[in-house]
Amino acid sequence: MSAWLQRWAGWRRARTLQRRPIPDPLWEETLVRFPFLTRRPPAAVQRLRELATLFLARKEFAGAGGLDVTDEMAVAIAAQACLPVLELGLEAYDGFVGIVVHPEPVAARRETMDEIGVVHRYTEELSGEAMDGGPLMLAWSDVVGAADSAAWGYNVVIHEFVHVLDLHAGRTGPPRRTGEASWARALAEAHTRFVERVDAGEDTFLDPYGAEAVEEFLAVAAEAFFVAPAELKLEEPDLYRLLVDFFRQDPDADLRATSSGAV
Ligand SMILES: [Zn+2]
Repeated sequence: MSAWLQRWAGWRRARTLQRRPIPDPLWEETLVRFPFLTRRPPAAVQRLRELATLFLARKEFAGAGGLDVTDEMAVAIAAQACLPVLELGLEAYDGFVGIVVHPEPVAARRETMDEIGVVHRYTEELSGEAMDGGPLMLAWSDVVGAADSAAWGYNVVIHEFVHVLDLHAGRTGPPRRTGEASWARALAEAHTRFVERVDAGEDTFLDPYGAEAVEEFLAVAAEAFFVAPAELKLEEPDLYRLLVDFFRQDPDADLRATSSGAV
């Protein structure tokens, strides 16, 4: 980007933050509703608010199934979506604009062909879906339950937006401090170990759905990383460190610092 373009982008950003800020009561209400957003230093919470403001200016929400997307809903989605990119920037989400919000999970028809060429048709309940180029789909019933479902490390908004981030990283090179190849190898190894545990019938804190594919493993692990970091770190310390490298955040350290009143 040229110096001029950079100045222009900076000016537009400042203007959006000034003209269309998320109103104080709405932001406060969002933090109360989703307590995991606040478990970081005040400066990081402020940055999250700014990113969410810019996110709202760049994205278009549409309700499906008769749902009217309110400001409260849009801010709830924006704030959670911005957590994974808090230290990486919003550019990773630039590849799409539309976010479609359904009242409840959606039944989607699927078709797969097995190795002997037989086609299997089935329906699948989707709480969210991210596609390359968008739009991104979310079920509001799951989004609004995020405070409760944090106890078992579940968060549909984070899951879908980490897919978007991961697709972007695949195209532009990963936003990772460590070497790309060794990072990807370490994630694949962690996934293999996880599949073995799931196959052995072990109880895992992480959603066994993560065994499906390494992309799902990353998305599922990221959910726990942001909403239940202590539990994830206890069960998967190596995976936790990989995610610290990926997201350039340490939610468990932030949680300890904020709960001891040191921040
Ligand atoms: Zn997924």
